[in-house]
This record gives sequence, C-alpha cells and structure tokens, in this order.
Amino acid sequence: MELTLDTPVRFIPRVGPAMAGKLEILEIRSARDFLYHIPFRYNDYSLVTPLARVQAGETVTIKGTVERFNAFATKSGKRLQEAKVRDDSGVISVIWFNQPFLRSVIKPGITIHLAGTVSWFGTKLVLNSPEYELFSEQTDEPTLHTGRIVPVYPATEGVSSKWMRGRIAFLLSNLLPTLVDPLPEALRRTYRLMDLSTALSTIHFPSSMEELVDARSRLAFDELFTLQLRAYTQKRERETQLTAHRLPLTGTDLKTFWESLPFVLTNDQEQAIGELLSDLKRTYPMNRLLVGDVGSGKTVVAAAVMYAAVKNNTQAVLMAPTQILAQQHFQTLTTVFASLGIRVGLITGSHKDEGQFDVLVGTHALLSESTTFKKVSVVVVDEQHRFGVSQRTTLMQKGTRKKTPHMLTMTATPIPRTVAKTAMGHMDLSILSVMPRGRTPVKTWVVPESKRQSAYEWITKQINQTGGQVFVICPLIEESETLTSVRAVKKELEVLKAVFSQYSVGLLHGRMKPKEKTDVLEAFRDKKHQILLATPVVEVGIDIPNATIMMIEASERFGLSQLHQLRGRVGRGSLASYCLLFTSGGDEAVERLKLLETEASGPNLAAADLTRRGAGDIMGTRQHGIPKLKIASFGDTTRIQEAQDALVGITAEDPDLHRFPLLRALAQNSTIEATKD
Ligand code: ADP
Ligand code: MG
Repeated sequence: MELTLDTPVRFIPRVGPAMAGKLEILEIRSARDFLYHIPFRYNDYSLVTPLARVQAGETVTIKGTVERFNAFATKSGKRLQEAKVRDDSGVISVIWFNQPFLRSVIKPGITIHLAGTVSWFGTKLVLNSPEYELFSEQTDEPTLHTGRIVPVYPATEGVSSKWMRGRIAFLLSNLLPTLVDPLPEALRRTYRLMDLSTALSTIHFPSSMEELVDARSRLAFDELFTLQLRAYTQKRERETQLTAHRLPLTGTDLKTFWESLPFVLTNDQEQAIGELLSDLKRTYPMNRLLVGDVGSGKTVVAAAVMYAAVKNNTQAVLMAPTQILAQQHFQTLTTVFASLGIRVGLITGSHKDEGQFDVLVGTHALLSESTTFKKVSVVVVDEQHRFGVSQRTTLMQKGTRKKTPHMLTMTATPIPRTVAKTAMGHMDLSILSVMPRGRTPVKTWVVPESKRQSAYEWITKQINQTGGQVFVICPLIEESETLTSVRAVKKELEVLKAVFSQYSVGLLHGRMKPKEKTDVLEAFRDKKHQILLATPVVEVGIDIPNATIMMIEASERFGLSQLHQLRGRVGRGSLASYCLLFTSGGDEAVERLKLLETEASGPNLAAADLTRRGAGDIMGTRQHGIPKLKIASFGDTTRIQEAQDALVGITAEDPDLHRFPLLRALAQNSTIEATKD
C-alpha cells in the first residue's frame, strides 16, 4: 500500500491497530494528522560532550560504551537501575528508577547515546533518567532522540514521545520528498513564508531554536489561510451553485408588519431587517448570523424574514435548542403574527400541532417531521452552538426540490472580529448592539457572605413592594447536571423555603422532564411562584418580564459573560431590575465580579474574560463549532489580515481557483466544522 497523507495511521509501518486506537485519543487518524502533531516543547540535547568535560546542571548528549549494568532496591522500596558508561575521556554513572526492562536493552559492551541533565548524586556526577538511543555501526543513521534538539509531543497512555518521534521521522522521510506545497510560490515570496516541507521537517526536528520561528510562522499562516479559504469556497459555492426562493417584500407589506408590532424597532433592528430582506431578494440562499446581546430583540428580526417567506407563499421554520425556548418563540410569534393572519404551529418532543401552518416552531423534533413541510424557504436557528452541523443540514434539506432555504442563525455569544473573519467567514454578519428603548439597566451588586441576611431582607421587601419575581441560580458543580448537583439544588430549595416562608418557591433543573420544566416555568410566568430556583439551565433567552431580581450563588464560579447572560433574564420589563452576585470568593474574585457592577456591555465583558482566561475559555470555541487552532491564534490580527489579503489576491483574478487545484483540494478537505457533532 502506498503511503500518502491520507493513509490511516494503522497502515503506517510499526503502528498497527492497537497503537492506532491509542493515537485516536490524540485525534491522530491519518498520516497527515500525525505529521501535524506538533511538539509542545523541545529538549535541547545538541551539546555533545566528552565525559571528562561534563558539569553538573548541564544538559548534554554523551556517546559511550556500557561497562556494567546493575539493579538495586532503595531504602524507600524503589527500584534503581544503574549503568557505568565510558568514553575515551572518562566514565559516568547513569541511573534510572523503576525501569527494570532496561536490563535487556542496556547490555554491557554496547555503544549508546545518552541525553539528559547532569546532576550530583551524593558525591558523584550522574546522568539521571536520560533518553537513550542505541548506536548501530551498520545503519549509521543520524540520532533521533539524542545529540540534537529533540521534540516532545503531547502523549497519552501507552504512546510515548519517543515512539512518536520515530514514527514521525519515518513519515517525514517518506512523505516530504513528494509533498507539493499548495501555496503558490509567488504568494510565499510576498508573505516571506518557508516552503511546506521545510516547515514540517523543521517543526519536528529543528537544527536551531531560531529556525522554529519561521517554521511556526508558516504553519500558523496555513491554518488561518485554510480557514478563510474554506469559508470563501463554501460561500462561493452557495452563491454560484445553490438556488433559493426569491422572497421580495413590498413596501406595503413591510409597513403592515411594522404596524403589527407593539413597539418601535431600534435602529439596529431596522438595519438588520434591511440586510436580511435584501439577502432574500437574491436567487441564492442567505446564510447570515445575527449576533445580539440577550434581550436585544433578535426574535422580531427573525419574524420579519419569516413574514417575507409567508408573503411569498412559502413556509418558515424556527428551531430552538430546548422545549422551553421553542414554546416561548411560539408564543411570541403567535402574538406578532395573529393580526397578520399567519398560522403558527409548534412541534416538540411532547407536542405536535396537526394541520397546515405558515410558520413552524420547534425543537430538533422538527427534524424527524416529514409531512408538515411542504415548501420551506426560510430556516431560523436560535443559539446555533447547540446544534450540530448534520442537524442543520437535515433542516436545510427540508426545502423544496432544487431550492435551498435561506438560513438565519441567532446567537447571544459575542463573536470576536478575528473569529468572524476566519472561522465564520462563510456567513454574513448582522449585529444588534443597542438595546430596545425604555429598558432600564440592571443594577448589579456583589454581595459578600456577611451581607447575606440583609440581602434576603431587601429581597423580601422588594417582592412585597413591587410584586417583582426572583430568579435564584445555583451553580453547577460539574459541567453537566449530575445527581449530585441536583441534590445540592434540592438542599438549597429547603433553605429558600425557610427564608422566604411566605412565598412559593419553584424549582427548575436540567434533570427534570421537559413537561415538568415547562409546567414550572408556566407557573412562574403566571406568578404562582414568586421565586424560581434554577441551575444555569435557566435557558438562554427566557423572557419573563415580571422577573426583576436575579440572585446568583457562588458567582465566582462563572465567567463574566455567563453571569451577564444570566443577568439578562431580568430587566426585560419596565420595572427596575437587580442582579445580586453572592460570593464567598477572595479579593481577586470580588474584584473581577465588581466589573459587572459598572459594565453593562456583553462584548466588553467578553473582552474582559478574554484577557483573564484566554479565548478558548470564554467562547467555549469548541462548543460553538469553531475549530481549535494548533499553532495560530485568533488573537493574531496581523497574520489573519495577511492570510485574508493573500486569499483576496488569488481569488480576485481566479474566483473559482481554476489555476490552483491544490488550493481547491485544500478547501474541499472540509474539516472546518467537523469539530462539532
Ligand atoms: P433576544 O435577543 O434575547 O432573543 P427577544 O427577541 O426575546 O431578545 O426580545 C426581548 C424582549 O424585548 C421581548 O419581550 C421583545 O418583545 C422585546 N422587544 C424586542 N424589540 C423591542 C423594541 N424595539 N422595543 C421594545 N421591546 C422590544
Ligand atoms: Mg432569544
């Protein structure tokens, strides 16, 4: 079998099925993946020293002959292996701990390379647990693990760095000679990029640490360029190869829609609706992302495109991540559309409207629907990140024959510009940055443990005076809701029932059945409970205007963005609203939380999270289907711009990349969203 970049790892010589299974854990599946398994550090063993000259503290490689090999047990019960190794200039003692198998490798008489750090052991100089590499007169190959700068790889149980080094060296020498660089030479010259083969061999086996800079730089460029290339290709295909229903809306119809709304649209909403409606006039499908902080009013923007669908005798579908949200959207849309004579249906796991509808709202239960869809021209997905790619694709296929639905995705997660430009470049972006008029900012306080009692009293007074309702959020102990965390909320429920004995307290957590969740929320909406205790499942986007107090326990466990999203559950009506951040955290935690007292902008809080915790963390990039970068970073604005310029340079003259088959191949190797699902 010929070895190529696409060869599955199990067919690489000396890998086999068992090792392939272990490599899978490191997400190494093909020879390509293996070549792109990038060292996380390097050991510099390039200093080769005669034994007479070694000094304590030095990291060196020595070459010598094994004179003796002994094994001992130490007083603490550890097993110690010791070898005496000699070269022309002297002798040194080499020790290892708990590696009894070495006896069969390090035999007296053999010549060996050893690399490691020299230290004192009692009164003698020793080499402690060095890398070793047997020397063979016959092959006389350059050393791999000693005598050079040696790569250290992310490893896993049963897969050592040393073993990977061997396999990667094998791949490099077998694959690089025939590897053709997909980046045209002119482009490489313009952006001063090393060629791909050199970059790959250097990243694994650099001859100096300085060389690494250029190798990393080339590979980082590749990552950012590839993301943009794939986004470009996807967008280009959509624009040139797919057709959609044209959904023009007359001025009169638009006016009718505006007049049916109980409020005046914000400028941003108007602008977003304008952008969307002009997308719908085209013959190819829209793919747009609507980004807006919690409460910025995304639903009505979506309603406008759904209205356009209906006015053109087609259907629209809105898919929400949970039953609760689906129900809420259903209610909102029913209200908005009632006076327009538009029929709205709801389909969730536990509820299915029968009949003919213009607009269908639901959860992923919609996906298994076949009969109700006749002519879908618009698909709206709320909070995209909870859906996998395949689910979205299924929905897309609900369109009529040969026509692809227009797609609108809504999210409250702020997307940094650099991410929008790279990983999400296949979508157009509309942003709601202002809040609807008349919304009062949520007054926020950090509440230390010592003020708990007075906070409870203050809350009681608020409920009595204003009739406002209260959310209490208990943090999750783990990522997902487990029985333990459910037990923790149940305990908290007893506490709250005692503190607020005159009120009814409802409970909402992720382990409840959908029906139970809906019932509790409905009861809360109907003011049967004054207080709702919930885990953070309290769905992004839930809209209960009469809730005016958000109280969050152990708030130091949340990111600022997440707290901001939770805070967005209140301040939705005309009443003054409050957010109380309980914490028993230290000064640093309090200082971080206090940012929420003064900062009301989601994007600014996300930026603050970004500087404190790093990009991956705040965005939960993986969770949002944004690929993980291995070498480059989404903070690398300059390189992102360069990659974009390079792409524009190429596609301006040759939009379908006719002259660049390798770039076409790179674009098709579509792992861009494969991280999700
Ligand atoms: P989100 O962007 O979080 O999905 P919603 O679409 O649920 O926000 O809107 C939040 C609330 O604001 C809803 O009750 C909605 O009716 C209301 N709303 C939306 N736009 C406006 C506006 N322009 N003026 C006043 N209220 C609005
Ligand atoms: Mg919403």
